[in-house]
Amino acid sequence: MKSYRKELWFDVPTRRAFINITPDVNQCLRQSGITEGLVLVNAMHITASVFINDDESGLHHDYDKWLERLAPHAPTNQYRHNVGEDNADAHMKRQIMGREVVVAVTEGQLDFGTWEQIFYGEFDGRRRKRVLVKIIGV
Ligand code: ZN
Repeated sequence: MKSYRKELWFDVPTRRAFINITPDVNQCLRQSGITEGLVLVNAMHITASVFINDDESGLHHDYDKWLERLAPHAPTNQYRHNVGEDNADAHMKRQIMGREVVVAVTEGQLDFGTWEQIFYGEFDGRRRKRVLVKIIGV
């Protein structure tokens, strides 16, 4: 069995963003030389997510509005966590959107369902953050 590990780095200039990282994961898969196995992709921060869905800008706008309704950023003093920081909403948004995804690798390709793409969800940006890509297989 082979194994491959890489960290992808992000420095999102805004507080929140959704970034399609499928090309980065595909590049990792090619570098790994693995053709049958599994890819794990996870955020290495508790205020960011990795998730799979459609690459459609309307949907991303809808996600942002929905998450803001569920866990509004402001007023920041509504959260007990926000003593000396202001990112309680980002922790909650990450919880809903998830920490990681696992994708099957078949014949050297990410074995996606229809329209599936992998996204990095940033909820407390403006600093450098990491995503782990781990690939195991043959
Ligand atoms: Zn925090």
